[in-house]
Amino acid sequence: MTPKIGLEIHVQLKTATKLFCSCSSAAFGTEPNLNICPVCMGYPGVLPVLNKKSVEKLVALATSVGCRINQTSIFARKNYFYPDLPKGYQISQFETPVSENGNLEIYSGNIKKSVRIKRVHLEEDAGKLLHAIGSEELDCSLVDFNRAGVPLAEVVTEPDIESAAQANDFLVTLKSLLRALDTSNCDMEKGELRVDVNISVSETQELGTKVEIKNLNSFKAARDAIEHETQRQSREIQSGGKVLHETRLWDVTSGKTQPLRSKEEASDYRYFPEPDLPHLKISDGWLDNITKNIPLTPNKKLESYQNDLKLTLKEAKAILFNEDPSVDKLFSDTLELAKKDDANIPPKKIANWTLNNLLGELNTANKTIDDARITPQRFYGFLSLIEKESLQSKVCKEIFSALLSNPDKEASVILEESGLGMKLSDDKLMEAIKTAIGDNQKAVADYKAGKEKALVAVMGAVMRITRGQISPQRVTELLKKELG
Ligand code: ZN
Ligand code: MN
Repeated sequence: MTPKIGLEIHVQLKTATKLFCSCSSAAFGTEPNLNICPVCMGYPGVLPVLNKKSVEKLVALATSVGCRINQTSIFARKNYFYPDLPKGYQISQFETPVSENGNLEIYSGNIKKSVRIKRVHLEEDAGKLLHAIGSEELDCSLVDFNRAGVPLAEVVTEPDIESAAQANDFLVTLKSLLRALDTSNCDMEKGELRVDVNISVSETQELGTKVEIKNLNSFKAARDAIEHETQRQSREIQSGGKVLHETRLWDVTSGKTQPLRSKEEASDYRYFPEPDLPHLKISDGWLDNITKNIPLTPNKKLESYQNDLKLTLKEAKAILFNEDPSVDKLFSDTLELAKKDDANIPPKKIANWTLNNLLGELNTANKTIDDARITPQRFYGFLSLIEKESLQSKVCKEIFSALLSNPDKEASVILEESGLGMKLSDDKLMEAIKTAIGDNQKAVADYKAGKEKALVAVMGAVMRITRGQISPQRVTELLKKELG
């Protein structure tokens, strides 16, 4: 049975301070309970003041996924008790969020698919409970409020996703958008991006009973949980049972979802408009100012990489949706240098070197682009060098390896020092060609009789004699000239 999946994604907005006070938002890695104040601790009599930057970050994101911006929106109290929630409620948005009704296009396999976005709203984060320190279980729980009040964007999709792979593609696409917009660093290990999955299977066109799986902290966990839950619900229905409307937890160790609690409804939270905050008004002027500074989104670039640069969808995706955003930065900056320099290096060639050689070698060496200090200038220097010298691919690869392990050397210096590109004098080269012709009389006769392919044998001989110091193109050129 095909599942219907909706995602709720919480993203930590990249702001210096919290959503309603001036405490630092640097929650992760800071000494516990250092970044707190009476406002984010919910002391009586304090008043929240909205962080302007967080609204701008959220609006840029919402606009980029085609959402309508509500120029007046309302903050609401979401009431529940939990030890990590000092106020006893979370300031969120309910009836009128900042934005609604957008969509994000994903490329799943070769299929382009639009996933509708129900809403993108602004809310504050809760604190964090610690049940263990390192591997040591505690006999009590500790609470760290550094995260309480940190601004979050909550992105809610409609149930348009139909497989674990599509969910993954959605998350990868969204993450690269969030980074391109500088909305968030999206470091999942620091809890900056968390995923809740709503999933239902049904034998008919009607939506089945929805089960929520909360707080998945990696894309792999999201995929695995979706696979498992699809099978569990399908089995339940096929054996005549009933899927319960509940919240479940993903247990990485057992690879199963476990029931947590029966699903709470919106009415359980007793939402009501936050009396301490006025309605949020976004004027035309402010909106224009935010939207005019939005950079080209990865999805827009994806189209241009295919149409203008003639990259395949697979290549464009590998560059734009790479886990390391430096990959696209290096690629596009190198492309710019090539354009400026009028060098005839095709974008496809830059893409190939980026994806196949650069990422391959870095992967083996367990390094990043930044570690290896591959700047656009050095990368471009290398590419234009091998283009100009028409070096053999084996030699190119050797120079490239050396480039990666010598962060301070330019490709041209490496080539010179290595002697790999040493040019044979024309005399020596002609001597090699004559020897090869003399040693391969039969192939030469075949070639002269019209068998083009026979030339390969003679070429091979030249390459052997010159120990691969000359590019095959040049050898072919000279051989053909010599043989008339
Ligand atoms: Zn505070
Ligand atoms: Mn939320």
